[in-house]
Amino acid sequence: MSAHKPLKLEDILNSDIWDVDYEPHIKVDSRKCEKCDVKPCTYLCPAGCYTLLEGRVLFSYEGCLECGTCRVICPEEAIDWNYPVSGRGIHYRFG
Ligand code: SF4
Repeated sequence: MSAHKPLKLEDILNSDIWDVDYEPHIKVDSRKCEKCDVKPCTYLCPAGCYTLLEGRVLFSYEGCLECGTCRVICPEEAIDWNYPVSGRGIHYRFG
């Protein structure tokens, strides 16, 4: 009988690899962000791509999981969201 240890989310993500494109696949309109009081991207992005610095939203696309959450939850529609060009971005590795 084999006993499998349950995987944690961190273990699964650590097995994934990223082929980061030079061009961001997500663009954020910072002028629209300034109007947003809630800034849900800073606490709902599972990859932590959005951070707050002195009240301003900083975005980095390199660790993006391509889940689409930020595109859906942005109340100002400040996010121009696309998948990375073919073959780029995250490569999920299950198993
Ligand atoms: S698509 Fe998902 S992982 Fe990528 S930046 Fe948006 S919320 Fe974060």
